[in-house]
Amino acid sequence: MFEHLSAVPQDPILAMLASYREDTHPQKIDLGIGVYKNDQGDTPIMRAVQQAEARLLQSETTKSYTAPAGSPVYNERVAALVFGAEHPVLKDRRVVSAQTPGGCGALRMAAEFLRGCSDRSKVWVSTPTWANHMPLLGGAGLQICQYPYYDHDLKAIDFDAMLSALETADRGDIVLLHGCCHNPSGADLNREQWLAVAELMQRKGLIPFVDMAYQGLGSGLDEDAYGLRMLAERFPEMVAATSCSKNFGLYRERTGTLFIIAANAEQAATAGSQLFSKIRSHYSMPPSHGAAIVETILGDPALNQEWQTELGEMRERISGLRQRLVASINASDIDADFSFIERQFGMFSFLGINPQQVERLRLNHSIYMIDSSRMNVAGLNDACMDYFVSALREVLNS
Ligand code: PMP
Repeated sequence: MFEHLSAVPQDPILAMLASYREDTHPQKIDLGIGVYKNDQGDTPIMRAVQQAEARLLQSETTKSYTAPAGSPVYNERVAALVFGAEHPVLKDRRVVSAQTPGGCGALRMAAEFLRGCSDRSKVWVSTPTWANHMPLLGGAGLQICQYPYYDHDLKAIDFDAMLSALETADRGDIVLLHGCCHNPSGADLNREQWLAVAELMQRKGLIPFVDMAYQGLGSGLDEDAYGLRMLAERFPEMVAATSCSKNFGLYRERTGTLFIIAANAEQAATAGSQLFSKIRSHYSMPPSHGAAIVETILGDPALNQEWQTELGEMRERISGLRQRLVASINASDIDADFSFIERQFGMFSFLGINPQQVERLRLNHSIYMIDSSRMNVAGLNDACMDYFVSALREVLNS
């Protein structure tokens, strides 16, 4: 029966990465793939992660099975990081946590869980949103609806359009919100907007689903979790998917967490039983190494401090690059306003050029980004900034 299959086109980002690797241009720049990069263009293992791994090599005594929920200690420490240790939902034991294979695993299992709650579940996602949200959520059988979010002309969130669309949602619908560092736009809700969204959703009986894959890479660990924590205080039911891929640099170790918040401890335990049975039937239990690293770091004050310091350096590098990019563009004779890049958060922004211009950047200058012009700001560095700005000037003026 395999002879009837047709080939699925390669993921455009992975296809682009392959062309980048083959490109021999000495000044080539990769702004495509969504990983953090340092000044040398590398994605290093974080210092605290290296130390935690060295400790684990000495202290681990078994590779025996764990459980569908993964490590309880990891779950507890990540819950404190995400919600804040004193959050009422933790004190009231209303949260079920599951260590998952990355943020993707958390998103998919959240969708499987939500689909199990109702066969008419609809989830609202932002336009645009991270491309993988659609297959992860839709593949579990959730119906996808979209609310307008980033306006390419305004170079900012069209907040009125977002609220108007959510006004049309039905009671019980789920709304996916990016906790911070919106991917692909970098445009985040401010606190006033978070509160307005919460008010609308409470009034309409909608259920929040927060995807937070970049905690600590926007404004700070606590600052970035503002929306998630505020919603968790107000809503009886909510789900949240988080990832340690970016903020611990654990991409390939597949380390994430799914949180389900229920109205009370008893309902949380029942929801947990449903979730764990779904996990059991999908991948049985999550891989353990990445979670063991995170658990070790969060449980040791010195390692935790080292990790937070390096995460702070990464965050400041990204915001510094955003400022220097805008300053370099302003200092050139490019006659267009790119100041929005400074007002956005995390690794991504839309440069705001058209697909033909993106192609010219690639063909004429070996600068790679996806067709939508989403760029990974962390792919820039001081050594390539002038080259990048002169290439941008050339494509804008030609
Ligand atoms: N959500 C968003 C918005 C993301 O950008 C990512 C990573 N690109 C993820 C979730 C999940 O990442 P991972 O599965 O690698 O942890």
